[in-house]
Amino acid sequence: MHVEVINTGTELLLGHVLNTHLRFLAEALFPLGLRIGRQVTVPDGLVIREALVEAAARAEILLVTGGLGPTTDDITRDVVADWLGLRLVHDEEIMRAIAERFARRGLALSARIGLQALRPPEATVLPNEHGTAPGLYLPPTARSPHLFLLPGPPRELHPMFTASVLPILQKVLPPRPELAMRNYRTAGLGESAVEELVGAPLLALGLEVGYCARPGEVDLRLIGSAEALARAEKIVAAQLGAQLVSRDQSSLEKVIVDRLSARGETLATAESCTGGLLAHRVTNVPGASAVFLEGFVTYANEAKTRALGVDAALLRAHGAVSREVAAAMAEGARTAAGVDHALATTGIAGPGGGSDAKPLGTVFIALATKLGPTTVEQHRFPTDRETFKDLTAQTALDLLRRRLG
Ligand code: ATP
Ligand code: MG
Repeated sequence: MHVEVINTGTELLLGHVLNTHLRFLAEALFPLGLRIGRQVTVPDGLVIREALVEAAARAEILLVTGGLGPTTDDITRDVVADWLGLRLVHDEEIMRAIAERFARRGLALSARIGLQALRPPEATVLPNEHGTAPGLYLPPTARSPHLFLLPGPPRELHPMFTASVLPILQKVLPPRPELAMRNYRTAGLGESAVEELVGAPLLALGLEVGYCARPGEVDLRLIGSAEALARAEKIVAAQLGAQLVSRDQSSLEKVIVDRLSARGETLATAESCTGGLLAHRVTNVPGASAVFLEGFVTYANEAKTRALGVDAALLRAHGAVSREVAAAMAEGARTAAGVDHALATTGIAGPGGGSDAKPLGTVFIALATKLGPTTVEQHRFPTDRETFKDLTAQTALDLLRRRLG
C-alpha cells in the first residue's frame, strides 16, 4: 500500500526543530511491510489543504503530523474537516480526559483548550496519554485514503502510534509476504569496495541492497525474505569477515566495550591529534567504566613526556608525529594506567604543519597490548580537521577490534 506523510509545522521549515517524525514513522512502518513513498513538510497554514489534496490523489495511507493543539496556528483538524466537508462535534469523552489531565496538574482550563475536543463523528479517537490533543483516524472515503491525524510533539506521537495506529493498520493491511531487514556495519572499506565484494551475489538472491557510508565505515542494508537473508549471511561473512563490525549496526566502540568486558580486559587511550575523541567515543557506550580506565590527551611534547614517559630525546630525534613516538605513547599509557591494551594517536591534522616527509594528514596509530608486540600503523587522511579526527579515531578503534578478534 502506498503511504505518504505530511509533516506540518512552520518551525520545521525555519530549521528550529529537526523533523524526527519521518525517521520514527519510517522505522515503525517497516515491520508491517510498509514504506513511506513520499513525504512533504508544510508550514502551519492553508497550504496544508493543498498538500492533503495532492497526497490523497496518490496515497492509500496518509499520515499527517502536527497542528492538533489549542493555539491559533494549530489548524490541521479544521483544514481536514473543511476539505472533506465534515462537521466537527464536541466530544464529551475527550473533554473529560483533557479536564482530568488539567486537574491532575492543577491547571485552569482556558476556552481554547476545548477546541481539542472537537472531532468529526466519522473519526476514531486515538487517545493521547502524554498530552491533551488526541489523534484522529478517518477511514477511507471516495476522496481520501486511510487518514491519520497525529500530534506534533514526539513524546505524544510515539506512544500513540504504537498503541493506536499500529493496531488499525494491522487490521486494514492485506496479507503480505514477511520481509525482514538486516543491517551490517563494516569498517576499513569504502562503499565501492563493499559493493564490489558483495553487491552482485546479494542482488542475485533477490534482496534489496543499500549502502550508507560515513567516515571510516559503511553500513550494508539488506531487505528480503528470511531465507534470502540467511543465504546472504554466508556471503557477507565470507567476503567481509575481517571488516565486519556488527550485524545489528552496533558501533565500533560498543563492539569493543562488549568484547573487552567479556574478556575481563581493560583499555586506556593516549591521544594527541584526536584530542580526546577516542575516549569520548568509548565512554559513550553504557558499561564503558568496566573496561576504560584512563584517557590521556597529551597535545604538547612536554605532556607526552610528563604523563606518558615518552623520552624527550625520542621526540627530538623523530618528531612527535612518528612511528616511534606513537609506540612510546601507547606503551607509556599502558604502563601508566596499568591496562591490558592502550591506543595512541599522533598526526598532522592541518591546515598547517605538513612537510615533504610528513605531508598533511599523516597520522600514526599505535596499539600496545598484552596480546603481543606493539603495532603501529601509518595512514594519511588529507581532509578537514574534524573528518581527520573522525577517521583517525575510527581507524584506531578498528585496529583494536581486529586485534581482539
Ligand atoms: P501541541 O498541542 O503541543 O501544540 P500539536 O499537535 O499542535 O501539539 P505542533 O504544534 O505542530 O503539534 O508541534 C508541537 C511541537 O512538537 C513543536 O514545537 C515541535 O517541538 C514538535 N514537533 C512537531 N513536529 C515535529 C516533527 N516533525 N519532528 C520533531 N518534532 C516535532
Ligand atoms: Mg501546536
